[in-house]
Amino acid sequence: MKAEHARRIFQLLVLGVLIAVPMYSQNPIEWAPSRIAMGELPTPRVSRVWGDTWSFSFYGVSITHPLAALEAVLASRVLYLPLILSALLPLLVTLLMGRVFCSWLCPAGFLLELTQRLRGRLWMRRRLVLIAGDHRYQLLVFSLLLTLLFATPVVSAFDLPHVVGRELFYLLTYGTLSTGGLLLLAGVLTVDTLAARRVWCRSLCPAGGFLSALGAKRLLRIGKKVERCIFCGECNRVCPYGLRPVELGIDKDYNDKDCDNCGLCRDACPSGALYYRIRR
Ligand code: SF4
Ligand code: SF4
Repeated sequence: MKAEHARRIFQLLVLGVLIAVPMYSQNPIEWAPSRIAMGELPTPRVSRVWGDTWSFSFYGVSITHPLAALEAVLASRVLYLPLILSALLPLLVTLLMGRVFCSWLCPAGFLLELTQRLRGRLWMRRRLVLIAGDHRYQLLVFSLLLTLLFATPVVSAFDLPHVVGRELFYLLTYGTLSTGGLLLLAGVLTVDTLAARRVWCRSLCPAGGFLSALGAKRLLRIGKKVERCIFCGECNRVCPYGLRPVELGIDKDYNDKDCDNCGLCRDACPSGALYYRIRR
């Protein structure tokens, strides 16, 4: 099975949950624009399912993005045990499998993959390439410092998957979108479509950088049967992060820290040289 097809199932599932949660948790009788304009927002029903990819609760079982947990600890300066416990499962998955959240679950990554397909089909096969360095770690450290100093979450304000979940919530609950969220999403999608593939993920996303660092020693990796490789370069061409799987097994210094195990290179390889492997 192509990894891309399996990923689509997970990505659509996440999107479905992000759409279903606000619809399930709000009372449609109270959706009145006049009341919203007056600041009287609809009263949510008591819901047992709520949240998005930043923090999610299902009948009392909570799952929290490790960065969301860290940010909450820094903002509150309290080590709240249930919060720490809720981040353990995603933390373990990242340590073992790398930042699979980015390729298998992230709704923003899903949208960015769709825009790339659209762009490839419609126009601009030759794209302008925006040279952008990797600023994810500077942004991450700066945001966490601000969080600590001002005791308020900062990354959650612009974490793209969280923004997608939040905007869907606003749209389906209040029938509106926030200006900041809309501008951020439109800006990232436009730059990604016109200028450079996955520039947000490669250069700016602090959560992606955080997960990359956590998953640097992961067990699940892309491996290569070097003897099968015909050096066609297809794997390099499809990698959204500009990695060079063609050098796997050849260049000792090959750095796959940012690989999110999306499997696009594996799917594209015409000779079946690339595969998922568990590093001992
Ligand atoms: S796509 Fe496969 S055959 Fe082509 S260069 Fe990459 S690993 Fe080698
Ligand atoms: S190296 Fe392969 S699996 Fe890793 S990010 Fe690039 S295309 Fe995806």
